[in-house]
Amino acid sequence: MRKYVIMGVQGSGKGTQSEMLCADLDLVHISVGDIFRWNVQNRTKLGAQVRRTMTSGELISDDLVEAVVRSRLDEHDWNYGFLIDGFPRNGRQAEFFMESYDLDAVIHLEIPDDEVRRRVLSRRLCPNCGMDYNLIYDRPAVEGCCEVCGHELITRADDTPEALDARLRDYHEKTRPVLELFRRKEVVHDVDAQPSAEEVQSAIRTTLGLPPYKS
Ligand SMILES: [Zn+2]
Repeated sequence: MRKYVIMGVQGSGKGTQSEMLCADLDLVHISVGDIFRWNVQNRTKLGAQVRRTMTSGELISDDLVEAVVRSRLDEHDWNYGFLIDGFPRNGRQAEFFMESYDLDAVIHLEIPDDEVRRRVLSRRLCPNCGMDYNLIYDRPAVEGCCEVCGHELITRADDTPEALDARLRDYHEKTRPVLELFRRKEVVHDVDAQPSAEEVQSAIRTTLGLPPYKS
């Protein structure tokens, strides 16, 4: 049984690393963001609550996040373990979580803010077919033009330098107390998130003593 938490700012490759880790180790990937999105799309009671909170311009409370994670873990379908993304959100939750679930490790993807800016601000989106591009990694063959449908590419409204800086500040403020608590418990594994996805995955597995990645 392997019980992990993964932490990393937006643009750190957290989603990709989580998928690679969960796939062949049969871990259940519990992503708070995905659970909320699913509930909103499927118009559940929880989804309605999330939507109300977001349309009123408020942030989803730590308590609601905790309730969602707890009820997900209560399904007990994680025979080989789990990887949690988006929780805990504060020191109290981290403490409770450590004690209740006997966490094995916290994977902390480290990436400088400047590199996050470079990655996130180079994202482009096709508003017609929804295809994602990145001017660093998957540059379209014709500049500014979707390869699938030919539509002109746009930047997401919240991918401005100002909005990104606000998100980065918020992330560091929220994350610091959680990381500090986990560090005191000596469960944090810092991994450099700047190399290629395969290299980062291999570093994660080495530090956690896991078998190599099989794609
Ligand atoms: Zn397109």
